Amino acid sequence: MNERGDLIAASLREVKNRIQLACQKAGRDPKEVTLISVTKNFPASDVQILYDLGERNFGENRDQEAREKSGALPSDAIWHFQGQIQSKKLRSITGWADVIHSLDDVGHARKIAELLLEKSLPVFVQVSLDSPDGGEGRGGVQPDQLAVFLRECATIPGLELAGLMAVAPLSVDPADAFSRLAAIRREVAVQFPQLKALSCGMSGDFESAIAAGATHIRIGSSILGSR
Ligand SMILES: *Cc1c(COP(=O)(O)O)cnc(C)c1O
Repeated sequence: MNERGDLIAASLREVKNRIQLACQKAGRDPKEVTLISVTKNFPASDVQILYDLGERNFGENRDQEAREKSGALPSDAIWHFQGQIQSKKLRSITGWADVIHSLDDVGHARKIAELLLEKSLPVFVQVSLDSPDGGEGRGGVQPDQLAVFLRECATIPGLELAGLMAVAPLSVDPADAFSRLAAIRREVAVQFPQLKALSCGMSGDFESAIAAGATHIRIGSSILGSR
């Protein structure tokens, strides 16, 4: 492998060691934690390096960029869309994405279900952990509206809800943010037991996400460097 390949291989190994250690500390089986390599802003050649190292889960934020890369990679790569959803892009997104992490609009949920034919496409509902006033504007359903949101989604045939997703706000301790998210999931799982998964944790905070019960961690810069 070339120099870039060696660099990525070393960073990936380091991240995996940290995941292993965090799981050990939390008394969790590392198999419960899916590592999503966030490849946004990096070329398809980097995704191919990760693929050749055995990675299969890749996270992207932009439709066009992801569509191009997914076409360049083998078909068993699993593509996670985690960017802000635009309604007019959904037809394209549901074409390449295997999982959507950022649902926060019932209209989008209806459209996703309509666009899917036979394809299975698990969807995470993004929850906002920002304060409602002065929020950081990253999207997501406010926690106090989540039950209503999920009840509306439950009436949409073919929509496959898988779990909750969040990004820790910059202003709070990520450990607090993720345990709050885990508590919200436990609460809604009483009515919506299909919400088993928890997508949280990025380069700066994935250890505390694993401690809180994350099943999907989305890591970019710790593997691929800064963009
Ligand atoms: C970019 C991004 C990530 C990865 O962030 P890093 O800090 O590079 O690990 C994870 N989740 C979302 C939603 C992102 O936009």
